[in-house]
Amino acid sequence: MDKFKNFSDLARHKKEGEDYSVVVREVADSTVAIVAPHGGKIESNTAEMAQAIAAGNYNLYLFKGVLPEGNFRELHITSTHFDEPRCLELVAKSDVTLTIHGCHVDEPVVYLSALDKKLESSLCAAFNKAGIKALTGGHPYKTGASPKNICNKNQRQQGVQIEFSRGIRNNPVLRDKCVQVVRESLKSPAY
Ligand SMILES: [Zn+2]
Repeated sequence: MDKFKNFSDLARHKKEGEDYSVVVREVADSTVAIVAPHGGKIESNTAEMAQAIAAGNYNLYLFKGVLPEGNFRELHITSTHFDEPRCLELVAKSDVTLTIHGCHVDEPVVYLSALDKKLESSLCAAFNKAGIKALTGGHPYKTGASPKNICNKNQRQQGVQIEFSRGIRNNPVLRDKCVQVVRESLKSPAY
């Protein structure tokens, strides 16, 4: 259960620049948005992975927890409630949206959930082909299939949520491999 039910609730108690920071980087002509709503110390390495996926090619949004401790407890707003205005604005302009998260599973695994079923299945196949276990169902991290999820608030009302396990986020080699898999998948003609 989150401490704050939405962003305005959080913003009444926490200070930007001191407790959390927001990064928005727009790329002219890109219709893709890469979003890490639980970056910094909320879900470690998700902001770094989102940034590496976006690189100079795609729009980027990061919400980063920068408290000395207790970042998840204090700053985590679940994806179906996450409504920081700059994030909503960037996502609303995009056709393709990927949100990057981290879960507390030690095994290296990627959990996908989505309303953009086409991109979800191409990502899943690409991860598995690269030797990284990925699943689109049969796991508990499935809120990416909710219309309320921030990943689905784009032009087409369908995006993809990616949960990287701790086993991936704590391993620099696997992190890089996952970043490359996502970047390759986004290059396919449909996107
Ligand atoms: Zn998350």
